[in-house]
Amino acid sequence: MDVISLRKPKVVILGAGYGGIMTAVNLQKKLGVNEAEVTLVNNNDYHYQTTWLHENAAGTLHHDRSRIQITDIIDRNKINFVQDTVVKIVPEEQKVTLQNGEVTYDYLVFGLGYESETFGIKGLKEHAFSIANINAARQIKEHIEYQFAKYSNMKEKKDELLTIIVGGAGFTGIELVGELANRVPELCQEFDVDREKVRVVCVEAAPMILPGFDEELVEYARNYLERKGIEFRIGTAIKECTEEGIIVAKDDQVEEIKAATVIWAAGVRGNAIVEESGFEAMRGRVKVDPYLRAPGHDNVFIVGDSSLMINEEINRPYPPTAQIAMQQGVTCANNLAVLIRDQGNLEEFKPDLKGTVCSLGHDDAIGTVYGKKIVGWKAAVMKKVIDNRALFLIGGPSLVLKKGKWNFI
Ligand code: FAD
Ligand code: NAD
Repeated sequence: MDVISLRKPKVVILGAGYGGIMTAVNLQKKLGVNEAEVTLVNNNDYHYQTTWLHENAAGTLHHDRSRIQITDIIDRNKINFVQDTVVKIVPEEQKVTLQNGEVTYDYLVFGLGYESETFGIKGLKEHAFSIANINAARQIKEHIEYQFAKYSNMKEKKDELLTIIVGGAGFTGIELVGELANRVPELCQEFDVDREKVRVVCVEAAPMILPGFDEELVEYARNYLERKGIEFRIGTAIKECTEEGIIVAKDDQVEEIKAATVIWAAGVRGNAIVEESGFEAMRGRVKVDPYLRAPGHDNVFIVGDSSLMINEEINRPYPPTAQIAMQQGVTCANNLAVLIRDQGNLEEFKPDLKGTVCSLGHDDAIGTVYGKKIVGWKAAVMKKVIDNRALFLIGGPSLVLKKGKWNFI
């Protein structure tokens, strides 16, 4: 007589970022209550919109706008939520060690996101901020405001209190200086500071800002931001960060720029937990198979910034983006349903890249959408449409109404 197992397969999803939460909300749509025991683990009781963190850091958007209660978007009849911090995965025992306990799994989804990559540059870890998560973004906002407050109460003014360095002119660096360009005049008014005294300096090692992006759009962005008072140091690499500011080098010339605020936005890597748990990874990114599984681990899926996939057309990795993380969540949920039901074929993941829009503050942007270039208010509106669409995919129309961006003009 065949023995039929009545135990439900256990699925554990680590991280409620874009990859993890999209896996969870799509899986809950696919599965009935009794088909699997699904657990979502996240260190906070909320998901946050990572793609909005530069706004929280600059102080142009309140952090509560970026936070979404996880229990508002998951179906608790189908998904068990555990608020805890992941410490380690033990793949041989199909177990995850948490700060306050452990969970076991039949299928695991790893979606713990990105970490800042400082490439061993001296002093960055100690003295620079990075937009690593929502509380890190809040700390940047509070720190900048405090420097303004301190400056305005000082008898002998130290101008470097009003200097903000942004390291890196990739999309994060440019979106951040775009927000700061709007925020600085407000701060000057709030704290009685002369705008001329404030410097926002964006330092980029490559010969252009947004390296590799469309040159005409890059030119637009640079001119626009310079008109709003952003200084660019191009072809200039940050070599060291100190308590006082940064040391930069351009060709043979070394220079110190004094600044009370240094924000490192010049590189990300995958989450270190993945490599610390014995998975083969490059800078925290696991080269996944076409079904999003870690090599040698058929029951472990990796989604989001900790996964690595090669774009065969250019033989380079796809950039780590929310766009891809969200699409991976859908495929991952489909594949989990196939495995749980032992029915059908696994789906290969194929990114559907719709374009890139880079904001320059809430009121301007540049981008390419379905191959068409857009700039100015049209691009700014498109950016908000993209932001609202992400909310829709995560939590449906009610989430768009609650957290959506409607300041179109
Ligand atoms: P994340 O979104 O980073 O989420 C990880 C989750 O895991 C978080 O909820 C975190 O709290 C949780 N977590 C982390 N460690 C632990 C732990 N040890 N235990 C428990 N939980 C943990 N991409 C775009 O496509 N478009 C954009 O416009 C865009 N804008 C961006 C703007 C900024 C400022 C930044 C920084 C990035 C931007 N990106 C954008 C990139 C995009 O945000 C990332 O690619 C995306 O967030 C990756 O999603 P993820 O699911 O891997 O992880
Ligand atoms: P990035 O790696 O794309 O850019 C980092 C930049 O820092 C590069 O231009 C690099 O040349 C520069 N840099 C590196 N070392 C330096 C040094 N020592 N001194 C000065 N400059 C240095 O990182 P990112 O901008 O944080 O982006 C991370 C990911 O998130 C990317 O995949 C990006 O596409 C995505 N993202 C997308 C958007 C969007 O679509 N609007 C916005 C933000 C981020």
